[in-house]
Amino acid sequence: QEDALQPGVSGLPVEEVDKLYASEKHVVFQTEVSRLMNLIINSLYKTREIFLRELISNASDALDKIRFMSLTDSNALASNGHFNISIVADKPSKTLVITDSGVGMTAEQLRANLGTIAKSGTSEFLSHLESEKNKGEQMNLIGQFGVGFYSAFLVADKVTVASKSNDDPDQHVWISEAVDDFVIAKDPRGNTLGRGTQITLHLKDDALEYLEEENLKALTKKYSEFINFPIYLWSTNF
Ligand code: ADP
Ligand code: MG
Repeated sequence: QEDALQPGVSGLPVEEVDKLYASEKHVVFQTEVSRLMNLIINSLYKTREIFLRELISNASDALDKIRFMSLTDSNALASNGHFNISIVADKPSKTLVITDSGVGMTAEQLRANLGTIAKSGTSEFLSHLESEKNKGEQMNLIGQFGVGFYSAFLVADKVTVASKSNDDPDQHVWISEAVDDFVIAKDPRGNTLGRGTQITLHLKDDALEYLEEENLKALTKKYSEFINFPIYLWSTNF
């Protein structure tokens, strides 16, 4: 089904990302987010491939949401008729780009969902986690808490999230180099997604193995077992 594919969904070029990161206002992460990121980065590096499970599962959740909304809102799919996930390994730019045609996020949702943790008791739980010296137990606890989106920083030193929601006239990008803060700006490309979310992982030099086709294929297979949407893998070597 050729028209289900969304080729050419490449990420915002790194020069543009860096330009925005340098010029736009930086928003500091809620303390809990920085603490959680540090915990994830420091205790899960041995199982860092789980970033792919987390990002695929978020894409699938977003697709579930728009599918559900479309049951009562016949117009919901006009912005993008696809229900799929694409993963593009781009060796020249050392990026892994994961795009879904899910519900997407408004600028405000990008800020709230990727900058704060709303769960109550988070601070206490993080203190407990931070005091746990047993690495195995620490990993268990983080798993229970939910590793989530921030696991992207296990393999990337810069992450760009472009997103377009039906509830926002513009597509926005969220950019972070982890730890302290992030930036949100209008996507200079305009609305390229129609609707959905595109996550660009600017891979760390020691994480380039995730661009290898066979490796990526095996991992995607492993982490898409219970995903009910088609996942397309692309790789560019030139
Ligand atoms: P969780 O999935 O447990 O809620 P995450 O850290 O994985 O936690 O994601 C945080 C939130 O960011 C999600 O609840 C969702 O609102 C939003 N989000 C993440 N990825 C996507 C995506 N691909 N599309 C739409 N929203 C997303
Ligand atoms: Mg999640």
